Amino acid sequence: MTRAAGRWTTPATQALRVGPGFDLAGLDRRSTPGWSGDKKSAPDALAAQGERLSELQERLFAHGRTGGDRAVLLVLQGMDTAGKGGIVRHVLGMVDPQGVALRSFGVPTAAEKRHHYLWRIRRALPRPGYIGVFDRSHYEDVLVVKVEGLVPAGEVEERYDEINAFEAEVASSGTRVVKVALMVSLDEQAARLRERLERPDKHWKYNPGDIDARERWPLYQAAYQTALERTSTDVAPWHVVPADRKWYARLAVGALLQDALEGLDLGWPPADFDVETELRRLEASDPRT
Ligand code: ADP
Repeated sequence: MTRAAGRWTTPATQALRVGPGFDLAGLDRRSTPGWSGDKKSAPDALAAQGERLSELQERLFAHGRTGGDRAVLLVLQGMDTAGKGGIVRHVLGMVDPQGVALRSFGVPTAAEKRHHYLWRIRRALPRPGYIGVFDRSHYEDVLVVKVEGLVPAGEVEERYDEINAFEAEVASSGTRVVKVALMVSLDEQAARLRERLERPDKHWKYNPGDIDARERWPLYQAAYQTALERTSTDVAPWHVVPADRKWYARLAVGALLQDALEGLDLGWPPADFDVETELRRLEASDPRT
């Protein structure tokens, strides 16, 4: 493959942000908003991004180790096959795993069901210095819960404001909240599900329930539209990433993560010892001399 250059002509944060008048139905899921190149431009761009992300993540980790209070929380939402797992592997895979706290949220356990829906979310928030990643999140509580009618509609209605208040609290504690909705098309989802069925090495990823959710696609899309417009706030805005092209989705989420980390504006923590003294001690420390 010939390498070609690409760049953000509009920053990903701007090109993908959910603002007033946002219309999910009008989103072209094969589009590549803000990015000037095609697939051939992805490998070099991803490699450069990886290097930068890696340094920024290490700074964040160092900051946490030295008493800082900052963290980043990446919330990943999307229909089945949207590529959440690929983002974790390919984007978060570029940084030191010891600084990443990944948590997946499935159907609440019996113990979790005894608590408020935000209980398990609060417990999973990243500690200072970490990049927390939520593979699904409290948004399931206004998506699947709404579509499947798992709680009364009036209760779902109250959750949007409650989620906004919760995220404002998380942000004010020092955590940058980056919310990403990966959006595949129905056709691309069919192709990805077919691949999972046709390849024995992908059977483990297939869940017959995915077809049930697929059949309710319009209801899920409507629930997403409402959730995205009601919970895209200044402190925790949503970004909608067209996800039919995996290379673009990965590049875009990497760019959003990079922006959040750059925004923390962290330097390397200063030494809490005298460097010259320690160098002299090192020189004099060889027990053989
Ligand atoms: P994935 O599909 O992301 O690979 P799982 O197979 O564990 O992971 O699926 C998670 C399932 O849990 C999804 O169907 C999702 O809708 C469901 N789920 C997550 N959170 C909730 C919730 N709060 N209430 C009900 N179902 C939920």
